[in-house]
Amino acid sequence: MRFRRGVSGGHTVKCRPMKSEPKDVIIVGGGLHGSSTALHLTRKGMRVQVIEKRFPGRFASGVNAGGVRRLGRHPAEIPLSVAAMEIWHEIQSFIGHDCGFHKVGQVKMAENEAEMKQLEERVAQVRALGFKHEELVGGNELRELVPAAADHCVGAIVCRDDGAANPMLTSRAYWRRALAEGVAYHLGDPVSGIERVGDMWQVRSGDRTFEAPILINCAGAWGDQIAGHLGEEAPLTPKALTMMVTERIPQFIDPVCGLASGGLSFKQSAEGTLVIGGGHLGFPDRDAETAEPDPLALAASARVVTRVFPQLKSVPVARTWCGLEGFMPDEIPVIGPSSTAPDAYHSFGFCGHGFQLSPIVGKCLAELIVDGKSSLPIEPFSITRFAGTGADA
Ligand SMILES: Cc1cc2nc3c(=O)[nH]c(=O)nc-3n(C[C@H](O)[C@H](O)[C@H](O)COP(=O)(O)OP(=O)(O)OC[C@H]3O[C@@H](n4cnc5c(N)ncnc54)[C@H](O)[C@@H]3O)c2cc1C
Repeated sequence: MRFRRGVSGGHTVKCRPMKSEPKDVIIVGGGLHGSSTALHLTRKGMRVQVIEKRFPGRFASGVNAGGVRRLGRHPAEIPLSVAAMEIWHEIQSFIGHDCGFHKVGQVKMAENEAEMKQLEERVAQVRALGFKHEELVGGNELRELVPAAADHCVGAIVCRDDGAANPMLTSRAYWRRALAEGVAYHLGDPVSGIERVGDMWQVRSGDRTFEAPILINCAGAWGDQIAGHLGEEAPLTPKALTMMVTERIPQFIDPVCGLASGGLSFKQSAEGTLVIGGGHLGFPDRDAETAEPDPLALAASARVVTRVFPQLKSVPVARTWCGLEGFMPDEIPVIGPSSTAPDAYHSFGFCGHGFQLSPIVGKCLAELIVDGKSSLPIEPFSITRFAGTGADA
């Protein structure tokens, strides 16, 4: 693949603060998880305000690869991911926008028999847990699904009802919907202090103070910093996930493709560009709120793509970018109550796969807060799992 130019970073907007009114909940962070949680809570009758240092979609939620997949999920995430997919299939009725979602399917390809064996074991593991969304296919069926796949690809797992959506459209759709349903957004307000005063949380941003009895930390790659204000340490590592997009080419592929060996997330947009990710890392600078692609990682990514799609060798790369994402050591997020502070909750550190989960995690948190219990199992995501690991030493 040929590289033409690299583009990274973005712009910020400062919005005029809205007049404060009494609220039940403060959410720190207006990305997809903050907005989804706000929307679900509002639909349960809570008065919610979101405090966001930039604007919704400025960070991971607006710049991700748009993969909407159950395929390959960590076992603890499968129930949430399966339930999230049901909402994605009805996304228009959920938030009044289609979010650019297309049910094109997702495929994870094996490049040799050893990888095929791993995929077989994976499908058996998912079935043993009672789920049937992952399906093993051999070489012939793989070639029907992905005719362009290199000859050495021997089979795949397919999730036919998975797909992809447009991350910025989705972020804006959540934001617009939440606003329309009464959520107050305070944009351009970086949270710099949090204090419990009596039964209330007081959240400071510059010379402003926001107040509510319930606090939710949806601060993405900064989630550990907000947890730190509650006296709670979380071993989050900010990473810079790298993406690249090629110039337009004629229709080439339908499903989103990955590899059993990892290192690839590959799709073709409706406009014809190829959108390529797969966990290749750039250089994060969380304090500066930016990240730079690493040319060597981009080259490695291009090599993976052309190994399985050799016909793409001369397609020009049009642009590249990085997004900041919080990673936890066990590659699953932190969701649930604070272990140190009353009426405080976390939802951060989605480890590169929180886009698809966004409609459901907000629902689980809203149920936990309003009804006292999540209808889906969120215990594996508790922040307490890091107790005694040195993270809270
Ligand atoms: C390049 C890339 C590709 C990805 N691809 C996929 C994919 O294909 N499929 C998938 O499912 N997931 C994918 N992801 C992961 C997904 O984008 C994230 O998991 C998800 O968007 C996280 O949402 P969030 O709301 O938790 O975080 P964010 O979107 O980061 O939102 C957190 C918000 O908190 C705000 N904030 C932080 N600190 C403060 C503070 N002190 N005061 C006020 N506000 C604060 C930030 O400004 C930010 O807007 C990808 C991520 C990246 C970066």
